Amino acid sequence: MDKFKVVKTYSDSIEATMAKDFLQDNGIEAFLADEYSGEILSSVVRGIKLIIKEKDFAQAEELLQSIADNVDENQNFEAEYITGILEESGALLNGHFKLTSGLHSDRYIEKIKVIQSPRKVEALCTILAKRLSNLNPDIVVGLAMGGIALGYEVAKQLNTDFIFTQRKDGEMTIRSGFRVEPGMKAIIIEDIVTTGGSVFEVIELLKSKGVEVLAIGLLVDRTGGKIDFGIQTEALLSINVTAYKPEDCPLCQQGIPITTPGSSDKKV
Ligand SMILES: [Zn+2]
Repeated sequence: MDKFKVVKTYSDSIEATMAKDFLQDNGIEAFLADEYSGEILSSVVRGIKLIIKEKDFAQAEELLQSIADNVDENQNFEAEYITGILEESGALLNGHFKLTSGLHSDRYIEKIKVIQSPRKVEALCTILAKRLSNLNPDIVVGLAMGGIALGYEVAKQLNTDFIFTQRKDGEMTIRSGFRVEPGMKAIIIEDIVTTGGSVFEVIELLKSKGVEVLAIGLLVDRTGGKIDFGIQTEALLSINVTAYKPEDCPLCQQGIPITTPGSSDKKV
């Protein structure tokens, strides 16, 4: 009978499932023992255990290390770089903020601060364009106002045309003077998505003109990756900002002074 061994423990079920699938794709029998097990609930380190046959241990460990190496060297570095640019420009603030909704939060995005520095726009859009470069779009479509500078820069990097949309009498429209043709392939660029409402409207608008939407590129996804446009979506930063009722706010309880941030038109 085969002996089994825990090769790694995960706190995140998606990460655990990806690791299990990766091992199975490489011919290693693997399964997960999750928090439903009483034994694990009572253990010191609670988590999802990735279990393999003992004979496969060395190979499994090596395969898992190869995932870790890639994540560390590429995605983590890139994420730190992006966060660094946003913090440096004053766009991503940490503290204690009163939002327009009246709720309190420990994070705030002052998106307009990014656009103030064309060099930072260029740096961020280079990463975004790289992630979208295999799609070969004919056109990049930005959403006014925030998506104009970003979309323009992405279009420049991808060597495509650029247009933007704007709301006219409440309805999403392509800015007059721009032309799109049926059969064109487009990428949509927006700065921050909270509910995604405007982006959904632009997708519908472009479809109604016979334009195929290949992907969405975002500066910040405020839903923490929950938003689903039904097509490839690339966000430079994906965060889940917690908002508290004043009476439940842990920052208030710690006596941290609160600030009401400035004039951005989208609060987090
Ligand atoms: Zn508070």
